[in-house]
Amino acid sequence: MRILPVISNIFLQRGDFKNNRYNGYSQYGTVLRSPLTDTFTGLKTIIPIKTKNEFREHALKRVYHCMYCGVPMRYDENMFLEWKRSNLFYKPIGEFVKTFGKYKDSLHTSEREIFDFIEFISRKSPTAKLDTVIKIMSVKANKELLKIQEPIFDAIAVEACKLPEENKRAVFDLIARSKYRMLRIPHKEEFSGKELRYKIENLSKTLSSEKLAERVNKLAELLTIPAIYKQTEPVTDIIIIRILRTIKPNSRINKKTKVNHNYSAKRLNKMIIEAIKAEVKEHKRKDIYNLCIEAEDKLDGKPVIGKFTNKSLIHDLKEAMDGIGEKNRVRRTLLRLANSLPTSKNSVFAFITKHDQASPAKIAYDLFTPSELTLEHMQPSSLKGEDILPNWAWACKRCNNTRSNNDMAVFYRNFDPQNAQNYWNEIIEDANKGYFDFWDIVSMLKVFKDQSGKKIQSKHLKFRRPYCEN
Ligand SMILES: [Zn+2]
Repeated sequence: MRILPVISNIFLQRGDFKNNRYNGYSQYGTVLRSPLTDTFTGLKTIIPIKTKNEFREHALKRVYHCMYCGVPMRYDENMFLEWKRSNLFYKPIGEFVKTFGKYKDSLHTSEREIFDFIEFISRKSPTAKLDTVIKIMSVKANKELLKIQEPIFDAIAVEACKLPEENKRAVFDLIARSKYRMLRIPHKEEFSGKELRYKIENLSKTLSSEKLAERVNKLAELLTIPAIYKQTEPVTDIIIIRILRTIKPNSRINKKTKVNHNYSAKRLNKMIIEAIKAEVKEHKRKDIYNLCIEAEDKLDGKPVIGKFTNKSLIHDLKEAMDGIGEKNRVRRTLLRLANSLPTSKNSVFAFITKHDQASPAKIAYDLFTPSELTLEHMQPSSLKGEDILPNWAWACKRCNNTRSNNDMAVFYRNFDPQNAQNYWNEIIEDANKGYFDFWDIVSMLKVFKDQSGKKIQSKHLKFRRPYCEN
């Protein structure tokens, strides 16, 4: 870096660089700040960003592009909460499109394609609702999706023939179950409290009332009490009382209440589900309500339609290959095939099919949150990354979640390398305006290089006195 020799003196005089820097205004900050203030330049003062809140507020005032995929990020979870509270998703699509149209360019490719279609429909029937539009699109989408899924399932079946007899049978059962689900043919399925809780937890994120979401999750949690879920342990009085008290919080049941012993695990499961149904019934949440009905049918051994998801396929496929080593070639081929199925992230057809029964809030949530502005810890917190400005960057929610704790250098192979340079140009541009302390940027770029192995072109980063604006 060109400026480094010039500033190395200051660097050396500053003493303990690492420990002093980030706790508010360090000794270093005062040294640089003092003589040249607005009285000298006659210009507005900018205090450099230090805290997470300042970093976030600033990011929402201008537009940063995701450091990985490059989408412009224009909103955060607070904005989504506002939309949710104002019931925007349940209003006619004309209104929905008008509000979200402003954020259209932030969407990822397949989500934008869907939005374009919603926009197109809204011009013809502006009073339709978001879920109706998705339903209309779903007939064609489902057919198109099947055309892509079927050959992959055929390949899975061919490969599964190479497995030992027992595993082969399990995989074939799974293929049959998946096909019933994909073609929406009613069939018998076993009830899983764990699966139901997971689905409810996911959907509760889009409930407009936080209190209701909390209540529904508290009830769903009961479904995974081992005695209820696995039925391997006896259902004790304590468990029964816990369930009854959660279902009816205002009842007079207490620890000393005598329990009627006709409470089987199945009956308790039904009581919990009944309570969830009662909660969501008045809140227009047919999706959660229908999940409960389906769960009751499963408990009664009645045929259900079920919903095909890649996630549960992969989970069940691993179970079907129980006992087969992870390095086994057939196992790896089967998982690779399952992972090549279209997902709602990369296929418009998969997105629409996944949401054909979804509530408007869930559809909007899944369209928009992938491009939400989220704080990325370049060195992951779980890998000793510090929660301080030099370790922070902005990434969209999808990239942030997908990268998780994975190696940044490996994760970058999925993207155009120019995206990283573009992101840092934006940060450097702000640093040159005085929003960031020069040294914070030097540290950020160092963390980035350590994590990604990429060197960012930073000649245009100006060494400047951080408290003045041009
Ligand atoms: Zn991204």
